[in-house]
Amino acid sequence: MTIAYELRCRECGKSYGIQPLSICDDCFSPLEVSFDLDYARTRFTREAISQGPLDMWRYRALLPVPDSYVPQTPAGLTPLMSAPRLGARIGASNLYIKNDAVCLPTLSFKDRVVAVALANAKEFGFDTVGCSSTGNLANAVAAQAARQGLKTYILVPADLEPAKILNTQVYGATLVRIDGNYDHVNRLCSQIADRYNWGFVNVNLRPYYAEGSKTFGFEIAEQLGWRLPDNIVCPMAGGSLITKIRKAFSELVALGLVEDRPVKFFGAQATGCSPISTAVKNGSDIIEPQRPNTIARSLAIGNPADGPYAARAIRASGGWAEDVSDVEIVSAIQELAETEGVFTETAGGVTTAVTARLYAHGRIQRDELTVTCITGNGLKTTDCLQDSYEASQAIRPRLADFENYVEERNAVNQALSLLGESYAR
Ligand SMILES: *Cc1c(COP(=O)(O)O)cnc(C)c1O
Ligand SMILES: [Zn+2]
Repeated sequence: MTIAYELRCRECGKSYGIQPLSICDDCFSPLEVSFDLDYARTRFTREAISQGPLDMWRYRALLPVPDSYVPQTPAGLTPLMSAPRLGARIGASNLYIKNDAVCLPTLSFKDRVVAVALANAKEFGFDTVGCSSTGNLANAVAAQAARQGLKTYILVPADLEPAKILNTQVYGATLVRIDGNYDHVNRLCSQIADRYNWGFVNVNLRPYYAEGSKTFGFEIAEQLGWRLPDNIVCPMAGGSLITKIRKAFSELVALGLVEDRPVKFFGAQATGCSPISTAVKNGSDIIEPQRPNTIARSLAIGNPADGPYAARAIRASGGWAEDVSDVEIVSAIQELAETEGVFTETAGGVTTAVTARLYAHGRIQRDELTVTCITGNGLKTTDCLQDSYEASQAIRPRLADFENYVEERNAVNQALSLLGESYAR
């Protein structure tokens, strides 16, 4: 029998077959799923994919899932949208948004990684699954485990956004808030997974989880008409997504589904948690861990597991990384919503603000085909906007009242803009 894929150490190359394991016994480096591309060649074709389901499972031939697995979650295949109005604001004429703010079932790209991780849970004999999470992963694991009838333990930093906590509990998961940051939570999860033999999607199932991110890249290429873009701008937490989009593109090239061309990868972080962008700016692959302090909690991983690989991938591609302040994140969320009608969470604010800066600094040229990765939904982080808008006074249901209201409002806006002009002078 041909083996379609197996786990292999990223550094020493030792192979481990197919088992729930994420670290090499010999050299303590991360394990990665490696595919037999010759075996995949006949099954992973443009034709076969176009006849597949209208979700991420159309790329199943390059995902590490047991042959017997019947997909339970129609995640992925989210819109790739042109973004002319945002582009006009930031000096971009060929800009696209890959919009995972509307990924199903829980409105972030984490639905993709969880779908692949949990496809392996039963095969490995786990009846209980879980994760350490900065929020979106918690939502995705809770929802998909509920549908598969798995018991769920989810550990999160205590300061998570209320919406992300509620969006986990509603699925019946056991949510444990930890008095500490993500890195503390993650360490504890490793101990728990070992002790109880549970499947933690980003611990002992991490190599399978990580492959799910490739579907984000496969979709971009297919939606561009089987073509690679010039640039990808991608948010980074643990640094996995950006490296897996790159892996997806290189698999597509290796299998002849797209023409080879250089794609630059640009990483986006919040300044309050920027270990990877800092390394890139310093020309280094060595990640100095940080203590996170930013409203972009979904990206707040101070000691990113795939940080060195992300930094290396960015620099090898000729790209760059940037980080932006919390104030810039909030205004970028508003700018994206106002120009393109896409309401993203703080992580998408990070990506949008970094995209604008890359054009402003000439790192990306105006007419290059650029895809900016929007990975989560704004309804989950509305707390960051609470000071930005006031609920207006209610009026009586009369036309005259409406006209008075509009008149007063225009007068106020005019006064404010005169004030703004006098400040500007
Ligand atoms: C987890 C997450 C990311 C980053 O993922 P990594 O693969 O850990 O770098 C980006 N955006 C959102 C909204 C996330 O939840
Ligand atoms: Zn090794």
